[in-house]
Amino acid sequence: MSGPPLSHVTRLMFDGTEVREIMKAIRVHEFGGPEVLRQEEVPTPQPGSGQVLVRMHAIGVNPVETYIRAGTYANKPDLPYTPGNDGAGVIEQVGSDVNEFKPGDRVYTAGSISGTYVEFALCRAEQVHRLPANASFAQGAAMGTPYATAYRGLFQRARARPGETVLVHGASGGVGTAAVQLARSHGMRVFGTAGSDEGRRLARDQGAHEVFDHRAPNQFQQIMMATGGRGVDVIVELLANVNLGKDLTILAKGGRVAIIGSRGRVEIDPRDTMQRDVDLRGMVMPNTPPEELASIHAALVAGLENGTLRPVIVKEFPLAEAAEAHRSVMEPGAFGKIVLMPGKVERMN
Ligand code: NAP
Repeated sequence: MSGPPLSHVTRLMFDGTEVREIMKAIRVHEFGGPEVLRQEEVPTPQPGSGQVLVRMHAIGVNPVETYIRAGTYANKPDLPYTPGNDGAGVIEQVGSDVNEFKPGDRVYTAGSISGTYVEFALCRAEQVHRLPANASFAQGAAMGTPYATAYRGLFQRARARPGETVLVHGASGGVGTAAVQLARSHGMRVFGTAGSDEGRRLARDQGAHEVFDHRAPNQFQQIMMATGGRGVDVIVELLANVNLGKDLTILAKGGRVAIIGSRGRVEIDPRDTMQRDVDLRGMVMPNTPPEELASIHAALVAGLENGTLRPVIVKEFPLAEAAEAHRSVMEPGAFGKIVLMPGKVERMN
């Protein structure tokens, strides 16, 4: 075959910029294990009216993308598809009717039309938010799902208020570290749990006043003691199938649980909710009404700007190693956020 390699084919735009006609993307042709994530060359999308094209510098990898890939998630995409919701980069092109962004702007994505495990992601303008200069692209890739989820769980669902005591049950991962930073910067007393010394150190470094081991059988007594027997006002729960039954025994009167993560069933005693006037508040991000989503991202951009939100990046993988990133995100011992970096060169085997 003659001519340049596919990934070097470019098109000259009316404004003099060059756009690559072919880009690398991770594609899934069948549901299954991490090995179904394959890097392919596909046409670079073109932004239409109200759309933008983002050159991705970092892509956030979330547990939910592994459930979708495995075919076990309630809402399955049509095959083939490109995974991903989160990422950060620079605006490459804008479609007509887009006035709030211009080529060269630093942005993060919270959703996309094309999927985000790509070199160039096609997004609706409202799925893109300004990335302040003091935040790295990898940090921006933590905003769309983990930080938005933590914000919604803490403030919009559990209605946590300054002065209250908040337990982040699972404070060492993507959502948990975000919840700790958000709660601490809003004047709450923050408890965090992790399954390892390193995880507890991380939770403390992110702002937890007290840390506990969620593998210790007496963790609930320890947490109750730390409140002087009063109980916690809010629990941000990242593994409800394991903890929810016992969570209900350590809540203060009027306590709320934001149920964010669960990987199975759990037994609860409803009396534990009655005696304390407790509210259980489940959530999934896609249910968030547009105006509440806009308010979440306005708060997150401000938090990045003023330095109270500092996403912790634990591992970076090249785009081609998406399968390895999926294995890694499901391993125990999370210490922050895992990202794909399209500019990073893959390891030679
Ligand atoms: P992650 O980065 O992999 O973190 C997982 C967290 O779970 C770690 O902090 C881990 O702690 C903790 N964990 C492990 N065993 C636990 C236990 N017995 N009790 C409490 N926590 C425990 O994942 P993530 O991105 O933060 O997401 C966390 C969960 O929330 C996932 O199940 C995800 O699917 C879900 N989620 C839901 C939504 C939604 O819209 N509802 C949005 C985002 C995420 P150690 O590793 O230290 O043990």
